[in-house]
Amino acid sequence: MSATLPAHAARAFEANGVRAQVPLGPLTTWQIGGPAEFLLRTANIERLAAARLAAEEAGLRVSFLGRGSNTLVADAGVSGLVLCPVDRDAPIRFEPGRVIASAGVLMPALARQLADHGLAGLEFLSAIPGTLGGGVVMNAGLSSAARRELAPHLEWVIVLGPGGVLRRVEGASLAFDYRTSPFQGGGDLIVEVALRTPERAEPQALLAAIAALQAERRKRQPLGTRTAGSTFFAPPSLGKAAGWYLDQVGAKGLRVGGAQVSTAHANWIENTGGATAADVESVMDTLERRVRDQFGVELRREVRRLPGPQHAGHAH
Ligand SMILES: Cc1cc2nc3c(=O)[nH]c(=O)nc-3n(C[C@H](O)[C@H](O)[C@H](O)COP(=O)(O)OP(=O)(O)OC[C@H]3O[C@@H](n4cnc5c(N)ncnc54)[C@H](O)[C@@H]3O)c2cc1C
Repeated sequence: MSATLPAHAARAFEANGVRAQVPLGPLTTWQIGGPAEFLLRTANIERLAAARLAAEEAGLRVSFLGRGSNTLVADAGVSGLVLCPVDRDAPIRFEPGRVIASAGVLMPALARQLADHGLAGLEFLSAIPGTLGGGVVMNAGLSSAARRELAPHLEWVIVLGPGGVLRRVEGASLAFDYRTSPFQGGGDLIVEVALRTPERAEPQALLAAIAALQAERRKRQPLGTRTAGSTFFAPPSLGKAAGWYLDQVGAKGLRVGGAQVSTAHANWIENTGGATAADVESVMDTLERRVRDQFGVELRREVRRLPGPQHAGHAH
């Protein structure tokens, strides 16, 4: 542990499995970025709460990471404690009309379990490679003709707030928008999620729908590329996807260092090997400028930065 860490925090970190100087790149799909000063990777709520409290008492910043499928980690890494509630085996409970799952479960695994139980309506989650917590934060979904997203299915979440305090927040009280939620940049770690599951169908039909969705995805998404999916979204009121604008400004193939706009998707940036966060930032800046200059449209960044903008202050 760090020499500057107060003894009580060092003890709490040790007791709860917090590790020091952990490279974050391998924990993201872009595989870019420096280390976390401290990292706790567990879905265990008591351990997350104890580590958070100890970090705050020691004056450390606290940040969150899910599966890292929508996150650009800074090259310099992240100071303070990063809480990462990812756990492929985290519990999923079925109750009449709802499923309650740890925020750390992966959405494709949850989609398959729902299908096994004959619960319909959430098959789209099988196409999104993040955690359920990250999915709520991003209001993840599919933007194809039949637009689907998590928010309408959300019954409530349990969050771990500052001071290690747990609260239940009702979905109906939250204002979601396209890939946007009140949790973005906030101080609450989502630890548990309840989704409504009113519809039923034959498990075989649901599993077939998932297989079809995934096969369709594989066709459009070259295997083995390191990306964070879509980089930007356009203001939904304009009615055109970010990819359309990016295509018009000749984004495909644009390259800075190891970062390159996919030649297949103008809205995807690939780490072709050795890309830095600075390379990706530079590509994003250029794309934003081109679309602004040609169309007067401000693209919005779907991908999140770690540390986030609030990180310059003290623990939130
Ligand atoms: C190949 C590919 C395809 C994709 N396709 C889609 C798609 O079709 N639709 C879509 O919507 N997205 C898509 N994405 C993007 C991504 O999978 C989603 O945004 C997903 O919801 C992110 O989840 P995550 O756990 O990886 O979040 P992360 O990237 O780890 O985190 C995202 C943000 O949420 C915060 N966060 C994470 N977990 C928590 C938590 N438990 N509590 C509070 N804050 C938290 C982080 O601090 C960060 O700001 C795709 C990504 C890839 C790589």
